[in-house]
Amino acid sequence: MKKETRILKIGAQGQDDLILEAAGTIKEGGIVAFPTETVYGLGADALNHQAVLKIFDAKGRPADNPLIVHVDSKQTCMKIARNIPDKALFLMEMFWPGPLTLILERKDIVPDVTTAGLDTVAVRIPENIVALKLIEYSGTPIAAPSANLSGKPSPTNAEHVLNDLYGKVDVVLDGGEVNIGVESTVLDMTSDVPALLRPGKISKEDIELCVGDIIVAYDDRICPETERVRSPGMKYIHYSPDSSVILVEGDHDRVVTRIKELVDDFALRDAKIGLLLTDETKKNINSSLSYSLGSKDFPEHAAKNLFLGFRYLDGKGIDVLIVDGSFKHEGIGMAVFNRIRKAADMIIKV
Ligand code: AMP
Ligand code: MG
Repeated sequence: MKKETRILKIGAQGQDDLILEAAGTIKEGGIVAFPTETVYGLGADALNHQAVLKIFDAKGRPADNPLIVHVDSKQTCMKIARNIPDKALFLMEMFWPGPLTLILERKDIVPDVTTAGLDTVAVRIPENIVALKLIEYSGTPIAAPSANLSGKPSPTNAEHVLNDLYGKVDVVLDGGEVNIGVESTVLDMTSDVPALLRPGKISKEDIELCVGDIIVAYDDRICPETERVRSPGMKYIHYSPDSSVILVEGDHDRVVTRIKELVDDFALRDAKIGLLLTDETKKNINSSLSYSLGSKDFPEHAAKNLFLGFRYLDGKGIDVLIVDGSFKHEGIGMAVFNRIRKAADMIIKV
C-alpha cells in the first residue's frame, strides 16, 4: 500500500520538535527511518506486533530474519532480556552506547515477529543522538533493521533511504551522513564462549581484550539454506548492487596490475565498468568512472565510502563493478571485506 512519506530534515544535534513528531508516529504503530552511527535504520515499536510487521513488508525482508532491538538504557534492555551473563554486562559497560549488538535470552514481552520466533533477542544502545532521542521520546524499544530494500546496500544517508523506501514508510528523519558506514558487530552471548556472528567497527580484538577468547561464527560466503546457521541473516544475499561485483584482493601492486588487465578485457567486450578504488590505486589507473574508498591505510574510510560507492556506481548503469581490495584487513577492515565478499559474484586473490 502506498503511504505518504514525511521527510523531516534535522541537524546533526537533532531538532527536538521533529524528533517528537517522529516518536509520535512510532507510538501510533507507524514506521520511521532514522540515522544511527552505523547506517540508517527502519524503526517500529519492537513490542507492537502489527507495527513490526510493517518493517518486513516495506523492506521485503524474509520473516525468518530477526531484527535488532534498539534501547536507550540498560534498564530498558533488562525489560526485554533475561539471564544476562556477566561478560555481557561488562561489554555493555565498555561499548554502549555504540555499534555492538548483543544476542541475549529474550523475555516474553518481545513478540515473535521481532525475533523471528527465536528465544533470543538482539539488543544495542546506539550512539547517534537523534536515534537516542527517538527511542527516549517513543518510550519503547525500537526494532530496526537497515532502512534499505532487502538485499540492497545499506543506506548511509537519507537520499539512499528515499530511493528504496519512498511511499513505503511514514517518516524519514534526515540527519545527514552516518559516521561509520557499516552495520554493527553482532555477538552471541548465549553460548559458554561468546560467538561473533557479524564483524563491525568493534573488532574481535576489542572484544577479546574485555572478555577473553571468543569464537568466529560468521562466514564471508552466503550460507546455503541447508546449513545450520546461528544468525538467520547469514543465509541471505546482502549489500548487493544490481551490477556484477568483482573483488580483487591482495598485495597492492598486484591488485593494481590485475585491475588494469580487467579494465582492458572488459573494454574490449564493450562492457561498462565502474571502479571502487583506494586513492593509491586510483593514481595508477585511467578510468572515467570510479569512486574513492579513501587511502588503503585507513579502512575506516573504506567503511564510510563502501555503500555510497556501490549506490553511486550502480546509478550509472554499469555492467560490472570492480572493487579494489588492497586496503588493510585490520579492525573495521575485516567488516568491510566481509560486506564486499558477500556482495561479490567473483573474488580474485592475487
Ligand atoms: P540488520 O538489522 O538488517 O543489520 O540485520 C540484523 C542481523 O542480526 C541479521 O543478520 C540477523 O540475522 C541478526 N540477528 C538479529 N537477531 C538475532 C538473534 N536473535 N539471533 C541471531 N542473530 C540475530
Ligand atoms: Mg540489513
